[in-house]
Amino acid sequence: MSLSRRAGAVALGLALVVGADVGAAVRGHQVVVHRVVVTSVAAKPVRTPNATAAGTLPQQRAQHTADDEGFAFLDPPGANGEVDRWDPCVPIHYVLDVEIGPASAASDVAWAFAQVSKATGLRFVYDGPTAEQPDDRRVDVRHTRAGWRWAPVLVALVPDSVFHGKGLEADKDAVAYTDPRIYSDRQGDSQIVSAQVVVDADDLTDGGHSDPGALGPTLLHEFGHLVGLDHVHRSGEIMQVDGGGVTTYGPGDLAGLRYLGRAHGCIADPALPTDSKDFPHSKS
Ligand SMILES: [Zn+2]
Repeated sequence: MSLSRRAGAVALGLALVVGADVGAAVRGHQVVVHRVVVTSVAAKPVRTPNATAAGTLPQQRAQHTADDEGFAFLDPPGANGEVDRWDPCVPIHYVLDVEIGPASAASDVAWAFAQVSKATGLRFVYDGPTAEQPDDRRVDVRHTRAGWRWAPVLVALVPDSVFHGKGLEADKDAVAYTDPRIYSDRQGDSQIVSAQVVVDADDLTDGGHSDPGALGPTLLHEFGHLVGLDHVHRSGEIMQVDGGGVTTYGPGDLAGLRYLGRAHGCIADPALPTDSKDFPHSKS
């Protein structure tokens, strides 16, 4: 079968960072963006609108919804109004690498995924523990007995030495970061297909989710990036650049999660592992 999709890989590293004063609810943030531009993926020109009123084009409508409701997309909406998101009609698999961290790590991860699932309708499936190390050059496809699959989301809790070590581009003040793998087709539809979420377990205040610096809220922020949210400047939202000092999703966060989930239906032309730049003999 010939490929209908020439994929452009877009990797974004989004890092959650913590202030040096231990115990303070001050968190800074840095966003690192790496982008591979594939020239064949040209956005369709925006048609000249009949009306000049804002919000008449799908692209504008999507952006206004986000602005009005208090959330932000990872990338601006395409001309057709589509944004970076997972196919909500397919389960999202994840694996867990806990090198160190609170005893509650596995249940904190499950708890955080449950919050995202409740807000988005996305289904997350735990494939079990892994010894796989996070790596910014992580290959996004896997060959399994069932054939080629997108690599499962890797959630990794690592010591400070690994977090700031070779192969990871974590900001020096970062506590955690998320690196989603995104492909776009010629129609401008973008799909998140894999990701890694890396947490510096030495920088967490605790396990559980009663403290903004604990693992649970840290994951809520990172999982927001995982499903397609970027930072906002609005108090009460966990997607603020510093995590907002809160322990749960705020109203804008929840509106964004809803937008990126099942509410917008399946992706009509899902990206296939053969579209990956990491697929053997890929021309992408
Ligand atoms: Zn962030």
